[in-house]
Amino acid sequence: MKQSEIIQQAVAQNRTALTEYEAKEFLGNLGLPVTEQMLVETKEAAVSAAKKIGYPIVMKLMAEDIVHKTDVGAVKLDIKNESEIKSTFNELMKIPSQTKKHVSIQEMAPKPITELIVGTLQDPQFGPAIMFGIGGILVEIMKDVSFRICPITEFDADEMIHEIKAFKILDGFRGSPKADLKALISLLKTISEISMDYLEIDQMDLNPVFIYEKGIKIVDARIILKTSETKE
Ligand code: ADP
Ligand code: MG
Repeated sequence: MKQSEIIQQAVAQNRTALTEYEAKEFLGNLGLPVTEQMLVETKEAAVSAAKKIGYPIVMKLMAEDIVHKTDVGAVKLDIKNESEIKSTFNELMKIPSQTKKHVSIQEMAPKPITELIVGTLQDPQFGPAIMFGIGGILVEIMKDVSFRICPITEFDADEMIHEIKAFKILDGFRGSPKADLKALISLLKTISEISMDYLEIDQMDLNPVFIYEKGIKIVDARIILKTSETKE
C-alpha cells in the first residue's frame, strides 16, 4: 500500500491511530529506515517470514486497541528458531484484545549506541512541532528533550541534537563510537516535513529509534490521526 492509502484506509475505518506495523510501512515508504517487518496471521506464515528476514527475529502482537505493547507482554525479542516461534505465537494470541490480532515478524535490530525518541505534536498556536531526546529512562526522568516548531532546517536539527544535556552520549562518550549525526539530522528534517505534509496526522511517536556509528533504524512508531475534536 502507498503511504497516503495507509492513512486513508485508517481514516475511512474511523480509526484514531495506525498500528506500529502501519506506521512503519508509512515511514518506510517515505524512504526512512525502519526495521524489516512482515505481518502474519498464522504460525506457518510466521515461520516463512522468519526465514526471509533471518534469525534472530522479534515478534509483536499488533491490535488496534493495544498501545503500550510491552505492558501487556506483546513484544518478544530474540527468537531464534521455529519451535520458539510456535510457542511465542500461542502466547501472543492469548493476550486479550477487542480488535483483530496480527503478528508482526521483524528483524532483531543490533544493539545501538543509544535509543532515541523523536516525536511530533500540535502546538495550539503554531501547529506541528517536533521533539527529540535520548530514549528510555532519561526522557522520562530528566525531561531531557528539545523542541522546535516545524518546519525545521538541517541547522535547526543540528541545534536540537546539540542542546540536550545527554549530547555526550552521541559524541563518543568514554571511548564509545560517535553516533551518525548526519543520519539523525536527516531523520528529524524528514519527520518535520511529514508533519507539515500530512494534515491527517495529529502526533507521531518514534520510540525507540536506534542510532549507530553508521545509520539509524526506527524500531517502534506510533501515528495518531486527527479526530473531529483535534481537527481545527
Ligand atoms: P512498546 O509498545 O512497549 O513501546 P516497542 O516496540 O518499543 O514496544 O518494544 C519495546 C522495546 O523492545 C524497545 O524499546 C526496544 O528496546 C526493543 N525492541 C523492539 N523491537 C525491536 C527490534 N525489532 N529489534 C531490537 N529491539 C527491539
Ligand atoms: Mg516503543
